[in-house]
Amino acid sequence: MLTIRPNCEHCDKDLPNTSTDAMICSFECTYCTTCALEVFQNVCPSCGGNFEKRPIRPKNMVLKHPVSHKRVFAPKDLEKAQILMTKLKDTPPKKR
Ligand SMILES: [Zn+2]
Ligand SMILES: [Zn+2]
Repeated sequence: MLTIRPNCEHCDKDLPNTSTDAMICSFECTYCTTCALEVFQNVCPSCGGNFEKRPIRPKNMVLKHPVSHKRVFAPKDLEKAQILMTKLKDTPPKKR
């Protein structure tokens, strides 16, 4: 089951379950759209994978399968991220 995290890992913006501004990589690293696509250019600074829009979890399911309230806030080193971006941003996700 996907962990629905409450905030952007890089800028700490609130990303509630129903937000349409949340993006995730395959490891559930969670970012706002601005960080995912503009700051990191669709290259996850932790794993090098791409981001996809995070789906919402419907209300009736949240009761039984609660979303996470544990904030993960770990701003990334932009110099390191840049090295990874330069290497991967022009490689389509399926070839990474
Ligand atoms: Zn952000
Ligand atoms: Zn990642």
